[in-house]
Amino acid sequence: MATPKQRTASCACGNLQLSTSGEPERVSSCSCTDCQKRTGSAFGVTAFFNADQVQLVSGEPKTFKRGSDAGRTLSMKFCPECGTTVFWSLDEYPGRVVVAVGCFADPQFPAPERNVWAKNKHHWVEFPSTVKLYDEAP
Ligand SMILES: [Zn+2]
Ligand SMILES: [Zn+2]
Repeated sequence: MATPKQRTASCACGNLQLSTSGEPERVSSCSCTDCQKRTGSAFGVTAFFNADQVQLVSGEPKTFKRGSDAGRTLSMKFCPECGTTVFWSLDEYPGRVVVAVGCFADPQFPAPERNVWAKNKHHWVEFPSTVKLYDEAP
């Protein structure tokens, strides 16, 4: 068996770092307004891993809890030095860790399969036809 692929995700200042082992279960993009505020951009891109695929390498994240448009509670983990949100978990799914794809700074990272909350998609954003659009969370 091949060695699982290792990747590193980090915040803007490099203080908060985690490593992932193996491929994400799913790569998704989200146009909800919370992701717009998290990124300061038009949409977020996220990778879902099993908690046992993810290890904190350095830094002590702070937690910002918020509700999601789908009615779940998210614990957003961000670097207290530079403010970058690197990963989060859903309180309802403790076995899962979601990592902000931009924190890998890897242009070869697998592409998202879907865009959720597309009803909040900025009018000029166009995804390739391989990305399935969902008005809300499927
Ligand atoms: Zn930082
Ligand atoms: Zn979102």
